[in-house]
Amino acid sequence: MALIVQKYGGSSVGSAERIKHVARRVARWKRAGHQIVVVVSAMSGETNRLLALAREIQAHPDPRELDVMVSTGEQVTIALMSMALMDLGIKARSYTGSQVKIVTDNAYTRARIVSIDEENLRRDLREDHVVVVAGFQGIDAAGNITTLGRGGSDTTGVALAAALTADECQIYTDVDGVYTTDPRIVPEARRLNTITFEEMLEMASLGSRVLQIRSVEFAGKYRVKLRVLSSFEEEGEGTLITFEEDEKMEHATISGIAFNRDEAKITILGVPDRPGIAYQILGPIGDADIDVDMIVQNVGQDGLTDFSFTVHRSDYAKALEILKPVAAHIKAREVQGGDKIAKVSVVGVGMRSHAGIASTAFRTLAEEGINIQMISTSEIKISIVIDEKYMELAVRVLHKAFGLEQAA
Ligand code: ADP
Ligand code: ASP
Ligand code: MG
Repeated sequence: MALIVQKYGGSSVGSAERIKHVARRVARWKRAGHQIVVVVSAMSGETNRLLALAREIQAHPDPRELDVMVSTGEQVTIALMSMALMDLGIKARSYTGSQVKIVTDNAYTRARIVSIDEENLRRDLREDHVVVVAGFQGIDAAGNITTLGRGGSDTTGVALAAALTADECQIYTDVDGVYTTDPRIVPEARRLNTITFEEMLEMASLGSRVLQIRSVEFAGKYRVKLRVLSSFEEEGEGTLITFEEDEKMEHATISGIAFNRDEAKITILGVPDRPGIAYQILGPIGDADIDVDMIVQNVGQDGLTDFSFTVHRSDYAKALEILKPVAAHIKAREVQGGDKIAKVSVVGVGMRSHAGIASTAFRTLAEEGINIQMISTSEIKISIVIDEKYMELAVRVLHKAFGLEQAA
């Protein structure tokens, strides 16, 4: 007998039919003798619908009220899932985040889990119930409803698995595992049987939305056995996230290509090249709680340099506003910006021991006439900022250049 947490995403519970289908799957696991905790997302499209509704009322919705509203999506699904299980003769009980007591900090719309009181869930499991928990939500210490950021049900699943020391956390979605890149963009993408935790962390942080980054962080911290699988297929091992030190096998140099369109670029031209300038530019950005991702400063010439960085697109307008007076103050020539950019990243732990990965990537893009605007690297990834309109092309050609396609 094992204790298994199964998380089902929006498309897996997108209709009454889909919910019944998932309930049948859960019932099979239960009847095989396992203890099952089910975590569900809102039905597909529901979170977006609610967010749009809020924006019809308030241009910048109040974050506390937004969380009160958007958390209702998951509350609907837990009740429907419990009913579907009962209909199959399985004892089931639903819990909202606050009923479990998934305590978070107070950062509305992007709260972090602080603690989980798993006692009631354990009792229900002992009494032979399937426990159905709402993903994506919690409460802060003062009892306010909070949500965990888009895709946050993954994190609920992994955090519950950690709190319950579950044998496995299974993330069921609409693809049958983690692929070398998004199979919707590159049909030749290949499913990976395993991916190291480090690589998954990079892939998630660089835009592969198959797992929310915080869920991967949790899995790493608490050593949760994490697997991504399809709820639309009856068979399949999916993709197991592994820890490199456990691995005996030889790894491919590159495991995947990630991409995102979530960023915008800001360049300050003609900046006086003197100590403290980076701080003068980025200090006010940080003070406004805006995260900066890539930063590039040119070698100075004639006492002047150019300084570029990227921020999340939703912070772009605010960052530009903040920088105008800053640029005038430091006597920079001009502030430019653009939000029609994309970031494409090549990820692989094998990069550590292989030279020439960067040059292969640059040559591949050059051959397609794609101009590189910014580059940043770490031990296991190379990220390149390009014009948004070439993103899909860049992903396809890089995927091919690194030999990631399925064997014919
Ligand atoms: P869910 O609603 O189940 O949480 P998501 O839409 O959040 O599902 O995540 C699954 C989607 O992630 C897939 O449909 C796929 O388009 C996308 N995706 C992006 N990158 C990858 C990747 N490397 N491997 C698999 N899926 C990916
Ligand atoms: N329903 C939430 C979202 O759409 C959480 C999730 O699905 O993981 O982002
Ligand atoms: Mg998701």
